Amino acid sequence: MDYLPIFLDLKDRSCALIGGGEVAARKVRLLLKAGAKVIVYAPELGGILAGLVREGKIEHKKTAFEPLLLDDCVLVIAATDDKAVNRAVYEAAKARRIPVNVVDQPTLCTFIMPSIIDRSPVIAAVSTGGASPVLARLIRARLETLIPAAYGRLARLVSEFRETVKQRFQHPEARRRFWEDVLQGPIAERMLSGQEDAAREALAKRLETTATTSAKPLGEVYLVGGGPGDPDLLTFRALRLMQQADVVVYDRLVSPEVLELVRRDADRIYAGKERDNHAIPQEDINHLLVRLAKEGKRVVRLKGGDPFIFGRGGEEIATLMEEGIPFQVVPGITAAAGCASYAGIPLTHRDYAQSVVFVTGHLKDGSVNLNWKALAQPSQTLVFYMGLHGVTDICRELIHHGLSKNMPTALVQQGTTRHQRVITGTLETLPGILEKTKVKAPTLIIVGEVVTLREKLNWFRPSAPN
Ligand code: SAH
Repeated sequence: MDYLPIFLDLKDRSCALIGGGEVAARKVRLLLKAGAKVIVYAPELGGILAGLVREGKIEHKKTAFEPLLLDDCVLVIAATDDKAVNRAVYEAAKARRIPVNVVDQPTLCTFIMPSIIDRSPVIAAVSTGGASPVLARLIRARLETLIPAAYGRLARLVSEFRETVKQRFQHPEARRRFWEDVLQGPIAERMLSGQEDAAREALAKRLETTATTSAKPLGEVYLVGGGPGDPDLLTFRALRLMQQADVVVYDRLVSPEVLELVRRDADRIYAGKERDNHAIPQEDINHLLVRLAKEGKRVVRLKGGDPFIFGRGGEEIATLMEEGIPFQVVPGITAAAGCASYAGIPLTHRDYAQSVVFVTGHLKDGSVNLNWKALAQPSQTLVFYMGLHGVTDICRELIHHGLSKNMPTALVQQGTTRHQRVITGTLETLPGILEKTKVKAPTLIIVGEVVTLREKLNWFRPSAPN
């Protein structure tokens, strides 16, 4: 290891900044964030630093550098464009054993500044030891996505309770277990989803019950939208919850690649929903979720697309609500958005469509029961979910209620996945084309002028054979 990473407490300590230009200004921001008392030594100041002086945030000494200036400070940064001055700062700091950083001159540094992710009080720092600042930045960007913005607040909540927990659990092992439980469970999750008061309450309650009884705490249900298939389209929150789950209850629509991202040792329960062949009736799914949560499990109810769009998510959480089970709903990219993007068909367009309607094409008892008149409107895009079996009726009714038989129409099969396939035609021709084609579920039907844009905008070329 070339450097020892440490975190310095600079609150109200004097730090010297030699140089008054833009490079110096960039360093000041971090020093101020850490609460340091910054004194800038420079004959002239640039605009940013001059502004900070006016606001009383930093002190300015209009003087050339000399070693004595460093006598009272705990840290020095040199950012002048004069090589001799930079070297003199380095020598003077070294003689006084004060940590020194000369910007962009690694050989004149006794410390270097890492790339940081600031979720104060949580701070993560990344350094490549000067080998590649760009790489450090890229690593930082990855960490940014892994460390939710609310971790700072979570850490503060923990510190509020730290002393009480210490008193309650004398044994360090018991303490560690308590905190692991809190930080990986529903309490932390509540904090991360912005429900700070609820998290504080639950933590206080957990503290009470853990000490007095051994009863299992209530679990929690996460109703998670898994998106249309491509695992890259999951939200960060969906992924985080999937990786904490004790058990996942999933639908047929959830792609294997998405399911793959659920925590390895979570139990997997298939809830089915093939057409007319529901593996578990909806009623039973609702109760299954309740039972699992009552066993203290963290349950991810994973659904294709978005849970609140033709997903019966509303029914499932109504039961949870009745039973007093805590839950969260995590939105997902719905099939219409995913398929349209990946098929190069914008759902609205200034020239072609001012509105878009998501419709279910699942026809109860084989009869068509939709408001066709409202659907068959100009300048409107229609997206039919679950429409494959009714496609002939759908196209016929739309023509019958006034849409042109030449209206461009597309069917997107297994959208956003490697198996995506798009079949285009018109309201008149598509049913016939589909009769002669082997189509695999799930499929989405898009009707509207916007379908023609695909000729220009198609960008996604899936690699797998169908
Ligand atoms: N909640 C889901 C929809 C569930 S209804 C969502 O928001 O996307 C099931 C229907 O969604 C399927 O019949 C099909 O019409 C559509 N669908 C879901 N994923 C799809 C995909 N990858 N490609 C095409 N259609 C899809």
